[in-house]
Amino acid sequence: MAHADLLARHRAVMPRWLALFYDEPIEITSGHGRRVTDGAGRTYLDFFGGILTNAVGYDIPEISDAVRAQVDTGIFHTSTLYLIRQQVELAERIAELSGIPDAKVFFTCSGTEANEAALLLATQYRRSNQVLALRNSYHGRAFATMGVTGNRGWSASSLTPVNVSYVHGGYRYRSPFRDYSDADYIRACVADLRDVITTTTAGDVACLIAEPIQGVGGFAVPPDGLFGAMKEVLDSYGILLVADEVQTGWGRTGEHFWGMQAHDVVPDVMTFAKGLGNGLAIGGVVARADIMDCLTANSISTFGGNPVSTAGARATLEYILDHDLQANAAKLGAKLLAGLRAAQQRHDVVGDVRGKGLMIGVELVRPGGTDPDPRAASLLLEETRSRGLLVGKGGLHGNVIRLAPPMTLTEEEADEGLEVLTASIAAVQAEVS
Ligand code: PLP
Repeated sequence: MAHADLLARHRAVMPRWLALFYDEPIEITSGHGRRVTDGAGRTYLDFFGGILTNAVGYDIPEISDAVRAQVDTGIFHTSTLYLIRQQVELAERIAELSGIPDAKVFFTCSGTEANEAALLLATQYRRSNQVLALRNSYHGRAFATMGVTGNRGWSASSLTPVNVSYVHGGYRYRSPFRDYSDADYIRACVADLRDVITTTTAGDVACLIAEPIQGVGGFAVPPDGLFGAMKEVLDSYGILLVADEVQTGWGRTGEHFWGMQAHDVVPDVMTFAKGLGNGLAIGGVVARADIMDCLTANSISTFGGNPVSTAGARATLEYILDHDLQANAAKLGAKLLAGLRAAQQRHDVVGDVRGKGLMIGVELVRPGGTDPDPRAASLLLEETRSRGLLVGKGGLHGNVIRLAPPMTLTEEEADEGLEVLTASIAAVQAEVS
């Protein structure tokens, strides 16, 4: 059978640690709107959008046409040693949207590279390799980014080129401050930040790197205002705030265009990737000019900001803005959140439902308590798939189902997804009880 053969060949030739979803992994061969079709001809409603890479849906003519027009010039790419018009235009647009004063932009091909570049800039600018990161964070799969990642399933912190200390503020549900009010939670995190700076570092910290909403960590949402309060402490030491907006950018959180805006704070450095190219490989860093220009060595990125990716990214960004997809994310995110919270009332295998916009986490627990239940999450992944819905999975214990459909989701599709999720949760509850 062709599919089984492909899986066997994948396993033989690709790394063991390259994660695949599902007992029988899916080969996606085409897509349209919010739906994808697999090699066996089965169609699924996609509530994970790749991994939030598909910001606006599949087979969008405006984006395909922009990419095709670049391909038709005969040039996919030469190098960044020559001027690339759409790269400059995209950088101007992102610099303006970032809210960072006097901003400059450097393009990469992924979120990992964007965060590697941000950590390089921060450590060079501050002449220190001491970094703070949030517990339960994820920042990528290369040397420094895997080093700062605060989630044991994805990190290699003992081998990192930076010294890293971890602070609270990311994952509230399993923190010692879970039952605190928002104001008390913020106070506790700020006190922890001060304590970590003064007891585990010499004070000469380069930066705090933080996801506004933790992605791989299980769509963990901190209370609004947290990072604003933390930035006051950082500023008093001259420590930079690096916002990892790889998952939270481009309006996905509904209320704001960037996740950090919920905290009334402008970061010193911001990284982005995922949804910008609607699936094309593009990421980057935005930073104040004095930080961006602090490197004295020459550098290039052979493929970062290449003409095909930047053409697709420009078209995606304008599509998001022209169709006000941020507002759609807010509206349909609220609907999904309410529906899932209603399901939580009926099924105690659901311990927590949280999210903002179209970034929603459903944390599964042993019924009657709060112990994490990764088996229930795997069952829910399979149940939803068997009903024609793709969702994501993550969290420190692998027990969080993650929902992040393309931001063009329609009301009817939200209802359809909710129906599948509700039926699947009921089936999982019956199985684990
Ligand atoms: N930062 C965050 C918050 C992410 O979620 C990810 C990927 O999931 C990355 C960085 C790394 O991005 P990439 O996989 O494009 O290297």
